[in-house]
Amino acid sequence: MTVAYLGLGANLGDARQTLKDAVVCLAQQHTINVLAKSSLYRTAPIDAGGDDYFNCAVKLDTTLPARHLLALCQKIEHHFGRERPFRNAPRTLDLDILLYGDQSIDEADLIVPHPRLIERAFALVPLVEIDAALDIPGHGRAAALLDGVSDQRIEKVQPPCQCPMLNALNNARAGVGKGRCG
Ligand code: AMP
Repeated sequence: MTVAYLGLGANLGDARQTLKDAVVCLAQQHTINVLAKSSLYRTAPIDAGGDDYFNCAVKLDTTLPARHLLALCQKIEHHFGRERPFRNAPRTLDLDILLYGDQSIDEADLIVPHPRLIERAFALVPLVEIDAALDIPGHGRAAALLDGVSDQRIEKVQPPCQCPMLNALNNARAGVGKGRCG
C-alpha cells in the first residue's frame, strides 16, 4: 500500500457536485481507500480564462503503482466528461497526482511531486489542510511553502467532510455500488 495525495479541480458544469461525485468514485475503487478529504475551495483560474475553479485534495492509500493510478485518474476524468480542446481549457474534472509516497518520478507523462504543486495555492492549501506536517520530496515541509502562494486568491467554501459526504464515502467503502464508476 502506498499513501498518495490527489488534487481535484473543476470549473465547467456543476463543478462542486462533480468534485463530490469524483471523491465517491475514487472511494468505490477496490484498489483505493480514501483516508481524508480536504475542504472545498473556490480559486481564481491561473494562466487561463473561464469561471472560478473549485478544488479539493484527497489522501488515499492504494495498491496501484503510480502509473496505474494515473491511468485510473484519466479514466475517471473521462467518465466525468473531460475534454481537452486546448491547453488550460476549462474542465469538468481534473485529477492530478500530487504526491505518491515519498517517490520522485520524472517520466515523459508522469512527474511526481506534481510539477506545479509548490507554485499553486489551489493544490498546496488543501494538501496542507489534510496533513500539516507533510513533506514534499525535494522541497521540505509543505506548510513552509504557503507564503510563496499567498498572492493567489483561494477561499474555503465548505468545511471538511460533513455528514452527507461522509455517509457516501462510508457507503462506498462498505461496498454499496462498488465498481459502478471509473
Ligand atoms: P492536465 O491537462 O492537467 O490534465 O494534464 C494532463 C497531462 O499531465 C497528462 O498528459 C499526464 O500524463 C501529465 N502528467 C504529468 N504528471 C502528472 C501528475 N503528477 N498527475 C497528473 N497528470 C500528470
